[in-house]
Amino acid sequence: MNDLRIRKIVIVGGGTAGWMTAAAMARLLRDDEISIRLIESEAIGTVGVGEATIPHILYFNRLLGLDESEFMRRTHATFKAGIEFVDWGGLGQRYIHPFGAYGEPMNSLHFHHSWLRYDQMGKAQPLDKYNLIVEAARLGKFQKPEGGRLNASSGAYSYAFQFDAGLYARYLREIAEAGGVKRTEGKISHVSRQPETGHVESVTLETGETVPGDLFIDCSGFRGLLIEQTLQSGFEDWSAYLPCDRAVARACERVAPPLPYTRATAKSAGWQWRIPLQSRTGNGHVYCSEFISDEEALEGLNRDLDGPVTSEPNFLKFKAGVRKSPWNRNVVAIGLSSGFLEPLESTSIHLIQSAIARLMENFPDKTFNQPDIDYYNRRTQLEYEQVRDFIVLHYCATQRDDSPFWNYCRTMQIPQTLADRLAVYSENARLYRHDNELFDETSWLAVLHGQNIRPKRYHPIADIMPAAELETRMKRIEGQVAAGVSLMARHPDFLERYIR
Ligand SMILES: Cc1cc2nc3c(=O)[nH]c(=O)nc-3n(C[C@H](O)[C@H](O)[C@H](O)COP(=O)(O)OP(=O)(O)OC[C@H]3O[C@@H](n4cnc5c(N)ncnc54)[C@H](O)[C@@H]3O)c2cc1C
Repeated sequence: MNDLRIRKIVIVGGGTAGWMTAAAMARLLRDDEISIRLIESEAIGTVGVGEATIPHILYFNRLLGLDESEFMRRTHATFKAGIEFVDWGGLGQRYIHPFGAYGEPMNSLHFHHSWLRYDQMGKAQPLDKYNLIVEAARLGKFQKPEGGRLNASSGAYSYAFQFDAGLYARYLREIAEAGGVKRTEGKISHVSRQPETGHVESVTLETGETVPGDLFIDCSGFRGLLIEQTLQSGFEDWSAYLPCDRAVARACERVAPPLPYTRATAKSAGWQWRIPLQSRTGNGHVYCSEFISDEEALEGLNRDLDGPVTSEPNFLKFKAGVRKSPWNRNVVAIGLSSGFLEPLESTSIHLIQSAIARLMENFPDKTFNQPDIDYYNRRTQLEYEQVRDFIVLHYCATQRDDSPFWNYCRTMQIPQTLADRLAVYSENARLYRHDNELFDETSWLAVLHGQNIRPKRYHPIADIMPAAELETRMKRIEGQVAAGVSLMARHPDFLERYIR
């Protein structure tokens, strides 16, 4: 029988996607007979943005065996308990999408059904008062959720990081190289394909060196050197739902203690991010070029900076959408080459991580079994669609009518999958998590409620609990949240202790 095992893996690109893939493969494919080669071009460079993450990165870091405090020191990371959205539902409004649950289930129902009933009774505090991590974050407090009284007192929570993605990629490079990955510096100028199968056979660098491979991972960024420029895999354009197509990023000095959350402030033709790191604050303006010029976008960003600038503006162009076949023949696209969803919910690094996990699950041999490839592509498409719908929700669930951009977003046609979800929630407050999707009921509730979508009714089973019992439980949760918050450290103090 022929030996069908993959022996030569070539990763094209050394941005966050390339080095995350290389580090994970070095860890998971430990085999002297498998060579992993990463090619990157310093002359081309990386996109150089991407600072906020979601809690799933904890699993990735654990897979690599990273020591968390060392990782945080190396990447100048701060803790992230969620995202604060300012001016999204309406001007002057704000809410936090937290990485932790509201209250606790009652009668096996999600907490918000009981809260809606309690609210109708005229007794409820604002929903946030039943969420430990939201209340703590608002006061600039954060502490890791490890046992003790904090966890016992109320809903569980998780956390993520805000970090310097360039430093993260450098750190992962060390891990990957220590695990046997060979790095080649240089620009690929030619790609050769097998005439019969159309598979990529080798890439040739400007130096003349040719690198053959069995499996190619395209981490070449927006250009999609192999997946698009060579294999023309196609792109599904979602810019009608997500019209922002540009960003300008710029760092400034941090002038206040770091908050344990990312802030996303809606602007007249897009939104601005503010991400506190240990060493600086990352800022950016994501905007729609149909409604605002690059100069205006930069002016707006500069106006809102907290401190003196520490970098030149970095302008980026993009289009929302997904690659039609992110796995095509013997090429798998990971990172920006596989699709792009704007960074409103900090999902890109997660999409890299989940593509790596999916590839490992479906790791091929040289037959490149088409049903496996089809399965991988269907899963990728579904994941992108689910994240897309969640991001679109922030734009369509708005009452803003103060600019042509918001008038477009408020009235645009939305994906049917999202319209169905909104219809169900608006009627009877039900939230469904489809197929183990990334964003759970807490996330959907935070944004729906935060942007003033109020359901007509709640779940009928929420009426079963006697009113007195409901009141007792609600007061207990509220008290536990307040007590838990009072025990928490200030984020800068906890961070300082943790990284020392
Ligand atoms: C405005 C903006 C904000 C973002 N914010 C976040 C965020 O907060 N959180 C988050 O998770 N994600 C964020 N992202 C996404 C994040 O930046 C990317 O997912 C991440 O950086 C991965 O990029 P990449 O590695 O796919 O591509 P790139 O960083 O572009 O890397 C491409 C690599 O390919 C190499 N290359 C290309 N062509 C060739 C060639 N011909 N020869 C050799 N090498 C080549 C380049 O040298 C480079 O090493 C943001 C993105 C944008 C645009």
